[in-house]
Amino acid sequence: MSSLIHRTHCPACSSEAIHPSLTAVDYTVSRESFSIWHCDTCSLRFTQDVPDMEGIGAYYQSDSYVSHSDTREGLINKLYHLVRNYTLGQKYKLVKKMTGLFTGQLLDIGAGTGAFSNTMQSKGWLVKGLEPDGTARAQAEKNYGLELQTPHAIHQLEAGSFDVITLWHVLEHVHDLDGYWNHFKKLLNENGQLIIAVPNYTSSDARHYGAYWAAYDVPRHLYHFSPAAMEELGRKYGFELKTTLPMWFDSFYVSMLSEQYKNGKSNLAAACWQGLLSNLKTLFNQNKCSSVIYVFRKGSMVNSI
Ligand SMILES: [Zn+2]
Repeated sequence: MSSLIHRTHCPACSSEAIHPSLTAVDYTVSRESFSIWHCDTCSLRFTQDVPDMEGIGAYYQSDSYVSHSDTREGLINKLYHLVRNYTLGQKYKLVKKMTGLFTGQLLDIGAGTGAFSNTMQSKGWLVKGLEPDGTARAQAEKNYGLELQTPHAIHQLEAGSFDVITLWHVLEHVHDLDGYWNHFKKLLNENGQLIIAVPNYTSSDARHYGAYWAAYDVPRHLYHFSPAAMEELGRKYGFELKTTLPMWFDSFYVSMLSEQYKNGKSNLAAACWQGLLSNLKTLFNQNKCSSVIYVFRKGSMVNSI
């Protein structure tokens, strides 16, 4: 039997100073409403009363859940795929720059249909990809001949064996936040880099759309990170935040979806305007972008404890 998880403490910093902040609707699958709570201590937001690991699967059953189904129908999905080819190249360059390596061992958690894992593998990296969704794993095999494994395989991986671990829009989906951070610490080698991309609820598009902001994506997004909350979370596990980078295209993509949710129809002009505004503010402050990439390195304290 699945049940709902009611939190009495912040899932990131364990503070009890938490309170309801807004209510958002699941526009993609169920049309159910979920309450989003705010932590006064670390500024993390989280979805309250979320289905547990057993129950959440039902909320991923949608043809429009783009990262799993690879659908190319509709304007937004067409744009998504067009932009993805560009961003894959950018992600490769980022890994190379942050690690200072041309090849190495990479663990991609939440590999989806395998596009990023395939890009890295084709550049000579040894890639291990984990993905919970069976349909996505089958698609990765069909598209690229990749054999992704279920997240349980993480327990069999060798300690200290990875140069880099990536999670592209994945951390906000995992129930066992604490377990994953402990795995990051254990699996990365001494110079290991941890690259995490998540939506940013303190972005200007998030402020503009409020409860309609598409990247709240309840109940699939269990946590809603701010740059401050993310830095604090990393520090808790001995990671030092090295740098943050904006994801420029997410501002447009998320604004397009948010316009649909807010007005029941697409409004390309309004979405582009909001995306542009968000990105203009990002020019002056990276932490204002709709989604942010966080690059962490193992702090010097990690191995000495
Ligand atoms: Zn907190």
